[in-house]
Amino acid sequence: KKRDPHQPEFLQAVEEVLTTMGAVFEKRPELVTVMERLCEPERQLIFRVPWLDDEGNVHVNRGYRVQFNSALGPYKGGLRFHPSVTLSVIKFLGFEQIFKNSLTTLPLGGGKGGSDFDPKGKSDNEIMRFCQSFMTELFRHIGANTDVPAGDIGVGGREVGYMFGQYKRLANNFSGILTGKGFNWGGSNIRPEATGYGVVYFAREILQDAGDSLEGKRVAVSGSGNVAQFTVEKLLDLGAVPVSMSDSSGCVIEEDGFTREGLAAVMEIKNVRRSRIKAYLEASSTAKFVEGERPWKHVTVDIAMPAATQNELDLEDAKALVACGCKLVVEAANMPSTPEAIHYLHENDVQFGPAKAANAGGVAVSGLEMSQNSLRLQWSREEVDERLRGIMKNIFASSKAAMDEYGTHLQGGANIAGFLKVADSMLAQGAV
Ligand code: NDP
Repeated sequence: KKRDPHQPEFLQAVEEVLTTMGAVFEKRPELVTVMERLCEPERQLIFRVPWLDDEGNVHVNRGYRVQFNSALGPYKGGLRFHPSVTLSVIKFLGFEQIFKNSLTTLPLGGGKGGSDFDPKGKSDNEIMRFCQSFMTELFRHIGANTDVPAGDIGVGGREVGYMFGQYKRLANNFSGILTGKGFNWGGSNIRPEATGYGVVYFAREILQDAGDSLEGKRVAVSGSGNVAQFTVEKLLDLGAVPVSMSDSSGCVIEEDGFTREGLAAVMEIKNVRRSRIKAYLEASSTAKFVEGERPWKHVTVDIAMPAATQNELDLEDAKALVACGCKLVVEAANMPSTPEAIHYLHENDVQFGPAKAANAGGVAVSGLEMSQNSLRLQWSREEVDERLRGIMKNIFASSKAAMDEYGTHLQGGANIAGFLKVADSMLAQGAV
């Protein structure tokens, strides 16, 4: 707190982890100083990103890459382009990424990056020029065995393509320095779907463990980007009833559940037209739009899956969910629930699937994309999906095992399981 007094998101993420570590530090006091080391990134890069708009005016944004921890492998974590991006936001995401990547069982360190650039309303050419300028600085800091960024909010297949093209020009090197690439040029099957599918596989593990299933369950989803879209798709595959989606302008409620045609309409609005979720009303006569609101207070559901951004589910939202009979919250976005909300959910016997475990499917398939790039091979959809399901099963099992061993909840179990592997590796590698 003394070192980073102006980084509220980062402090929130660190505190969330520290509050679950008491039993670990009691059993293994030598790990306290390892945690201290782990809270300080190995390297933080901040750089200028100048770019030209379509009228020829120069704009300047700020670029970031925080290379947080390389105990388990090359730094790995996405790039976020959103006006709310600050060093604090990138550090919170990078910190979480260390534990998440550890849980996947793949050899991945933790990192995160991005820019305060706002992609909304920009032309395709402006996006391309920004991505090229961003990579013109970033390229010297990344590499297939050093640091492998991916997408996040505001960075999807289009942006990864523009950045990959620029990297190749600058480095004269075709290697897997980004994941989330197009399938024709080194991407992995199931990568676009992986985070959303993984969230639903993880929810299924929680329910199965309690002798229950997703069949017929009403689910509130927030967001309508990459993660939300494929969360809804997999919910439909498994017989659940997704009743909401949203964006930063408001939420859409479908009382009887989104259909596949409805989801296709959302995908067209968000991915092709790059428009607002309200446009969904043109495609559905049954939908209701609530301006400026998140879905939580406007639904009656069994399960909630926040899939938009950090701190989008607060204490009031948690109260509304408990009051409507919601029994499970699974975090699809990173740190979507405030600490007060998580506390309230636990107090009221709502099962809670924390982001680090629940949304690790995205980075896991990014790890598989790296493996395929190293092999110069591409696996089938079925093979990647099978591996993803296995990884999500493992993450649930290892989080639950740590939860039982240390007498905590699933959130604590995920933090502990993720931490112990990194901490032991750091100890083995000496005071570096
Ligand atoms: P997208 O950019 O594809 O979608 C983001 C969605 O969230 C959009 O609907 C967006 O609305 C909404 N949103 C973003 N910021 C805000 C805000 N401040 N207030 C309200 N709504 C907001 O991003 P992703 O789907 O990739 O990411 C969603 C979440 O999942 C993030 O927390 C991300 O870190 C996390 N995540 C993503 C992974 C991935 O593989 N992509 C992997 C693991 C986690 P609008 O369109 O109006 O901006």
